[in-house]
Amino acid sequence: MKKKQVVIALAGNPNSGKTTIFNNLTGSRQHVGNYSGVTVEKKEGRAKYKDFDITVVDLPGTYGLSAYSPDEVVARDVIIKEKPDLLVNILDASNLERNLYLTTQLKELEVPLLLVLNMADVSEKNGNRIDYTLLAKLLGAPVVRAVGSKNEGTEEILEAVAQFISGTSGLAERQIRYRHEIEDELQKIQELLSTKNQAFLEVASDQAGSHDLTYPARWVAIKLLENDRELMGRLATINNGSFLADELVKSRQRIKNVIGDDPETLLVEDRYAFARGVCREACHRSGLDRVSLTEKIDNILLNRALGIPLFLGIMWLLFQLTFTLGGPPMEWIDAGVSALGEWVGAHMAEGLLSSLLVDGIIGGVGGVLVFLPNILLLFLGIALLEGSGYMARAAFVMDNVMHRAGLHGKSFVPMLIGFGCTVPALMATRTLENPRDRLVTMLVTPLMSCGARLPVYTLLIAAFFSPQVGGNILFSLYLIGITLAIIMARVFRTFLLPGETEPFVMELPIYRWPTLKNIIIHMWERTWLYLQKAGTIILAMSILMWGLFTFPNVDNQGQPYATSAAQLENSYAGKVGKAVEPIIAPLGFDWKAGVALVSGLGAKEVVVSTMGTLYSIEDNDALAEEEEESINSFAEKAKQQSGFTPLTAYVLMLFTLIYVPCLAVLAVMKRETNGWKWPAFTMAYTVILAWLVSFVVYRAGLWMGIGV
Ligand code: GDP
Ligand code: MG
Repeated sequence: MKKKQVVIALAGNPNSGKTTIFNNLTGSRQHVGNYSGVTVEKKEGRAKYKDFDITVVDLPGTYGLSAYSPDEVVARDVIIKEKPDLLVNILDASNLERNLYLTTQLKELEVPLLLVLNMADVSEKNGNRIDYTLLAKLLGAPVVRAVGSKNEGTEEILEAVAQFISGTSGLAERQIRYRHEIEDELQKIQELLSTKNQAFLEVASDQAGSHDLTYPARWVAIKLLENDRELMGRLATINNGSFLADELVKSRQRIKNVIGDDPETLLVEDRYAFARGVCREACHRSGLDRVSLTEKIDNILLNRALGIPLFLGIMWLLFQLTFTLGGPPMEWIDAGVSALGEWVGAHMAEGLLSSLLVDGIIGGVGGVLVFLPNILLLFLGIALLEGSGYMARAAFVMDNVMHRAGLHGKSFVPMLIGFGCTVPALMATRTLENPRDRLVTMLVTPLMSCGARLPVYTLLIAAFFSPQVGGNILFSLYLIGITLAIIMARVFRTFLLPGETEPFVMELPIYRWPTLKNIIIHMWERTWLYLQKAGTIILAMSILMWGLFTFPNVDNQGQPYATSAAQLENSYAGKVGKAVEPIIAPLGFDWKAGVALVSGLGAKEVVVSTMGTLYSIEDNDALAEEEEESINSFAEKAKQQSGFTPLTAYVLMLFTLIYVPCLAVLAVMKRETNGWKWPAFTMAYTVILAWLVSFVVYRAGLWMGIGV
């Protein structure tokens, strides 16, 4: 019977035990020579196993696959050009994290991989326990335990090779993903490579006779971004090469501008982040000898018992700071907006135009701008969490909880970004490879309380709660948001999109001080978006709402209404409010709250400006004499006119938290899911959920006599 010919190549760090395993596999059937053209030792041998005739190539030991040394170039050239059937990566199990760095790069060469965890004896003596099954799933490659010096694991390696050749490992392919700034550039470079320079990917020209040799496009893009000496050199020799080189300079510069570091450095960091994440999940260590600062911090932040309380503590601090530090500048802007309104009012003839300007535009847009300091602080906090590397830890810590919800910890990162704004959060779900995971995450992310809800909370909390409890009230809303998101994820997983999540690696980047520039760029980007929103959607909604409040301004007989209150009640807005009143009355809301909530369908901030307008129009009758703090007078007016209590205020905040994400979110959701089905579903489920939760809280509050 003819034996099947198989070629495998051994790759690994120096001293990982490659030669030892090579000898175990091949016995005496080996010969040594040099790779053609370079004085790097080439060792080849043969192994026979079952009906396989296996050629084993011992690659030079390397720590990475850049072009720094001839060894590294030889190793990667052999892998790419000779395309072994299987790449056997020998790792020193007693130093796994470090050894996995090479693995991350071997995976990018797109050759099937088998991992051999050698030196298992040393690792076990050091007190490490490795979950081989989980490790295989995380890395998408079979894993074999070995002790080369005692010839343990040799049979298992051969068996794994045989199994691989006869079928597949049954493991899902796993690619390492870099931070999104890098992924974006890789995408661009890959597109350029495929459209402008297919020839560059084909090395057939320097391989006589073989025409199917192609570099993996993603790998080439990564290497070019890394400024790889060998590939950059090759770039100079092809058509369009200088064009590509220019584009690369731009790509590198863009990354450097945003993050403040070279792509080379960042790629290395991300690979280590991946390796660290793998180790944290699949290895349990008791004896720690050399501990880096990152590990020391992680031993606390990722601690099984402390992780979640610490996460909640950090969140609590963030929202507390947002609320308290935002207070004073908020008052300054508020004073400025009021002064502007008064000045315009005083210098214009009384009438519709003046009303439009003062009540509609200045009141509406200004009412939202007042909350800019809070929102800036929130963005700052999120930028700090992202930049410092803590965001990834939060996802790690929440992994267990998220699994219970049928999601993976990775889904938690988009959800956290949702604390800032749901639009970028939905984009961030693109890192989730499984479409169902991604969809479930997109459906629940709007429940994470975004920055646009903050003005509503800030206004109502300042009006109805004492400063001492304000921060905690705010925190409770965020917590309810997270909890509902997790519960709904479980519900959707069970009834709508069943399926279990597979384990994923969660990268753990080293902790670093985020650079000032990085933070300013992120804050400015998001603030600019917010200002644009204030200038467009919110402006339009304010004018629209003003119109709905102001017209019709005469009754059936064509007479103006006697009081502003009567006018308001009979306006279009009043009619809309009255129409929804029966539905929301069980929640303790009157028609005015109804108007506010309907106006918030466009953008949640508008709830605030609408309420401002609602209560100030009527105020004109009373001709307020004493100069009061506007927020306190708001509370007074809301109490008098709508019977607001702290309980109703809280329920209104809850409702605002849960119901319908804003128009921008629905539009992005439509784009990302290719249709209106899921945005429509999200609208429907959030309204129903908002009603139910508000009802329960309101009734429970009444029954227990809290906040009434
Ligand atoms: P290479 O540089 O990757 O080719 O590594 P070698 O095969 O030369 O091994 C380096 C050293 O580690 C040698 O002294 C081996 O005897 C030893 N070694 C190899 N495998 C094991 C193992 O599983 N356990 C222990 N304790 N030592 C090993
Ligand atoms: Mg060796």
